[in-house]
Amino acid sequence: MKQKWLEQFDEAPLTLKSANHTETLVRVDNPECGIRLEIGGGEFAIMAGPCSVENEEQIVTTAEYVRANGAQILRGGAFKPRSSPYAFQGLGEAGLKLLAEARRRTGLAIVTELLDEADVDLVADYADILQIGSRNSDNTSLHVAAALTGKPILLKRGMAATVADFLRAANVILDHGNPNVLLCERGIRTFETATRNTFDAAAISLLKMISHLPVIADPSHGCGRSELVPALARVGVAAGADGMIIEVHPTPQRAYSDGDQSLTFSEYSRMIAELEPWLATRKLNASLFSEALA
Ligand code: PEP
Ligand code: MN
Repeated sequence: MKQKWLEQFDEAPLTLKSANHTETLVRVDNPECGIRLEIGGGEFAIMAGPCSVENEEQIVTTAEYVRANGAQILRGGAFKPRSSPYAFQGLGEAGLKLLAEARRRTGLAIVTELLDEADVDLVADYADILQIGSRNSDNTSLHVAAALTGKPILLKRGMAATVADFLRAANVILDHGNPNVLLCERGIRTFETATRNTFDAAAISLLKMISHLPVIADPSHGCGRSELVPALARVGVAAGADGMIIEVHPTPQRAYSDGDQSLTFSEYSRMIAELEPWLATRKLNASLFSEALA
């Protein structure tokens, strides 16, 4: 591997592979709820659910459906960062309570966004994995507060963050004593407007090559169109991701947020059922990554 090229990641040393640390297994533990998961290490993790938690029926029926179709983790935002401050901002604590109810009924772990440092204790009380969103990708004080909870963190790449910026942010979390970081590629802003973002598959392979942290693909935000999500999900898997996060809604046309990119139940289950060949490709690529660093 070209040493000069790797120098751009020098400020994120804790995130990089070393001879004796090539892979981090992120443990998601919630003994009270019977949850014990590991992300990374060859298994493929599936996180699925609506963009926003809207009501009990929506979150529980979605949780039950995705649980029966491959998911181990339920996603759902209770605190929503929106493009418009006048759009639906999430149900707040009521949404967290609904997520906990869905977890109680299904045994799925919960990933939900921590938007504001002021809510860190509240969100950490409910979440099994704290999501740091794209819009907070360079909010270092939020990263530190999240790190100090000790919870696993799904760190989304900022929409204008380079891979080096992304790894520096992850480094801060590791540097504050929390090794459980999941790197999430969710698309970046480019000149292309036909899709919501430009899904950076190269970043997934690059991260798998240089970092020991698990990588999660988010094809939903990566393109913004449900018609494209299954194809991009396959790309993310083949590129080497350790898992994916997918928006699923019982009635996407009525979703409070991100309906255009949310899969229906049947679109979701079909996508999962057709994933196997791509998981096999992912295994082939994994050996490329270890050879490149050798
Ligand atoms: C989300 O997951 O719904 C979300 C807001 O993601 P991002 O921060 O990637 O836009
Ligand atoms: Mn969303």
